[in-house]
Amino acid sequence: MESSNFIQDFIVEDLGNGRYGKVHTRFPPEPNGYLHIGHAKSICINFGTAIKFKGLCNLRFDDTNPAKEEVEYVDSIKEDVKWLGFDWEEREYYASDYYELCYEFAEQLISAGKAYICHLKGDEVGEYRGTLTSAGNNSPWRERPIEENLEIFRKMRAGEVEEGEAFLRAKIDMASPNMNMRDPAIYRIKKETHHRTGNKWIIYPMYDYAHPIGDWIEGITHSICTLEFEDHRPLYEWVLNEIKTLIDSGSYIPSQKMPAALPRQIEFARLNLTYTVMSKRLLRELVENNHVLGWDDPRIPTISGLRRRGYTPSSLREFAERIGVAKADSVVDIQFLYFCIREELNKSVQRAMVVLDPLKIVITNWEEGKEDILEVENNPENLEHGNRKVVFGREIYIERDDFMENPPKKYFRLSPGSEVRLKGAYYITCKEVIKKDGEIVELHCVYDPESRGGETPDARKVRGTLHWINCKTAADIEVRLFENLFTLENPTAIPEGKNFMDYVDKDSLVVKQAKAEPMLADVKPYDRFQFLRHGYFCVDSKDSLPQKPVFNRIVGLKDTWAKLNSK
Ligand code: ATP
Ligand code: MG
Repeated sequence: MESSNFIQDFIVEDLGNGRYGKVHTRFPPEPNGYLHIGHAKSICINFGTAIKFKGLCNLRFDDTNPAKEEVEYVDSIKEDVKWLGFDWEEREYYASDYYELCYEFAEQLISAGKAYICHLKGDEVGEYRGTLTSAGNNSPWRERPIEENLEIFRKMRAGEVEEGEAFLRAKIDMASPNMNMRDPAIYRIKKETHHRTGNKWIIYPMYDYAHPIGDWIEGITHSICTLEFEDHRPLYEWVLNEIKTLIDSGSYIPSQKMPAALPRQIEFARLNLTYTVMSKRLLRELVENNHVLGWDDPRIPTISGLRRRGYTPSSLREFAERIGVAKADSVVDIQFLYFCIREELNKSVQRAMVVLDPLKIVITNWEEGKEDILEVENNPENLEHGNRKVVFGREIYIERDDFMENPPKKYFRLSPGSEVRLKGAYYITCKEVIKKDGEIVELHCVYDPESRGGETPDARKVRGTLHWINCKTAADIEVRLFENLFTLENPTAIPEGKNFMDYVDKDSLVVKQAKAEPMLADVKPYDRFQFLRHGYFCVDSKDSLPQKPVFNRIVGLKDTWAKLNSK
């Protein structure tokens, strides 16, 4: 089978040389927050790779830390994976499903002299570990008798040892150049209630120990993870190989039948995006400090935020596909994400006219009460969308900034004495500016009856075309405009003494009470439109009311990414 990235190259090789007969991946989130677009990339890689090779992908919650995890997060993660379009069928697993197995293996490692109980305290552990340039020292507890290790480990499980008094370590090599191999902790005491196992367990396996075991028992072939785990791979392999050696030697028969082949860990580069933060920890800080409306704030790159803002699952899958899989860390320009949704919506959604900052116009030569029903196209990029009717009348709104009383040269919008085209309707000329307390409150204009539909028989040149709303039939809608949440391209690289939250743009959310075509009063959550000259918008799923919908701007129309990259 053809491959398109280095992960797939490995897989093709592994299938070719018979290391594995099928492909089985997993997506292993820790339920300690909501997923973000980096996770979306990982989901697309894990599920997408399984689909490509006609294999399977499991969903596994890495719930090895009882203190930070919550059911709310588990539910949101499931919703997000489904929404992205992937299906784990009945294969929903938890690291906590394997606590018993992890424990059993730990006793075997102890019995084989491959793990020991250590009583060093936090600081001491650090001192004994050594540094990147100097070897560590063996723990004074490293050579204690196997029986003693087993006895204490069982006491730890029974709750007879206090938190911090003891922990189980793998006995590997305190002089290893890889710090992860210097007798890493594999079990610690945590007297906390776990969201699934309650108070059954007092000791919890470390991620680096539980993860390979979870992969193995589930029959995972390719354990795809991000680059920061590259240095942990020797430990991943150590855990698997030590246990497998014990089983293969016949000295121990595990209570569960383990798959014959061991999984293989493959690392790829994390996704980073400009002008935002990506880690769950930082996102949680933003939520808890009320810098955003919640985990689904449309300005943050959580999947729930992107969904609420109006991104489609297909646009995020397309984004993940196009950024590709790399072996070196990089930062993706957020404009590229905007480009992907814009490109999709340009073809798929219908146009509408909305005036964000209304300025009233009275067309003085238009008969009172007269109406004219005109037709405008719904999507010039896709004529299958057909046309719709708009009603023209004596009083209309245009954008306040489409009028200038003292315009500069080459201003093609409306100004005193100038003529513009109203989209799909008529030409109008401004005759009078009405002010109150120095502020413009209304314009008086005249229209040319010969210009119906936006052209005149004499084909005279009118360069400005404005969108407009009929005052009589206007719908009131709320429109939310977003800017990047941060003023800094990389909010995590900040001067000392500063906090990333100091760089939150307080004006990143702007709310407008707008006038819209009447069809926009009759919408449902997640309906999407292009508002002419303003960008792409999506009906907010939380704050919309039946007669007062709220629209989120997904993205503006201007495409700086495509322009920059077209040369
Ligand atoms: P965070 O720091 O945001 O919590 P994490 O790596 O701790 O990230 P996990 O829940 O442990 O989050 O991640 C689940 C999977 O998603 C892991 O395989 C992880 O490597 C992957 N992942 C997390 N962040 C990214 C990212 N920015 N780009 C690609 N994959 C990611
Ligand atoms: Mg994590």
